[in-house]
Amino acid sequence: VKNIGKKIGLLYDRLWDAYGPQGWWPVTGRRTGSRAVCDADGYHVKNYVLPATPAGRFEVAVGAVLTQNTAWTNVRSVIGFLKKEKYLHPQKILAADLSVLGGLIRSSGYYNEKAKKLKQVAALLSKEKWLQGKAVPSREKLLATWGIGEETADSILLYAFHRPFFVVDAYTRRLLGRLGWLGGREPYHEIQAIFHRRLPGEAALFNEFHALIVEHAKQHCLKNKPLCGGCPVRSLCRRFREDRSGKREQ
Ligand code: SF4
Repeated sequence: VKNIGKKIGLLYDRLWDAYGPQGWWPVTGRRTGSRAVCDADGYHVKNYVLPATPAGRFEVAVGAVLTQNTAWTNVRSVIGFLKKEKYLHPQKILAADLSVLGGLIRSSGYYNEKAKKLKQVAALLSKEKWLQGKAVPSREKLLATWGIGEETADSILLYAFHRPFFVVDAYTRRLLGRLGWLGGREPYHEIQAIFHRRLPGEAALFNEFHALIVEHAKQHCLKNKPLCGGCPVRSLCRRFREDRSGKREQ
């Protein structure tokens, strides 16, 4: 990993200025009395307390599994469907027949595998009152559970339990690679350490930073053809410099 020094703070500031607070992780239909605390899609801008209920924490964990290798729009509709069918509860998932559960989550892709993973997650999070918020599952226990890799574990810890674990995903790798901060073969923990070593260990900061990277990847740093004109971080970007000087191989 190249020395990125203070640039990481600059990256955050530029993304924040460009896209603003993101309101992750979306959770369905939370209300305080008659007042909605999330928007129609479940986002809750500048509210870092949500999720604050067992149901909300479980919903984030389910979303973290379902979003593996699929777009969030699919996950959102599956979560809505699970909720409507009253399956968005650990005991219901544990009791469900695998084929029934697979059918319910079919549109999230890899549904047979994900149905098994959901059962594992439901079994784990039912223990030790974790969903009640009395304690937090350790990263080791999450990782020891079949179906939970590093990205899913950190998504659950950060977005369901408000613990400062930076989530590294394909968007993070893409952006940091294009900025010139990665060689390309770094393992997950090395990329995560870039954020953990240089930033205050604050869950709200990690929450926003990861969400901002995803937003940036959708608006500018697209997979095949990045939209570099108007990119808020282009002055930090090696790929942009190389493109402009004609040095980059096509
Ligand atoms: S300048 Fe282009 S390649 Fe670099 S971060 Fe921005 S969109 Fe991505």
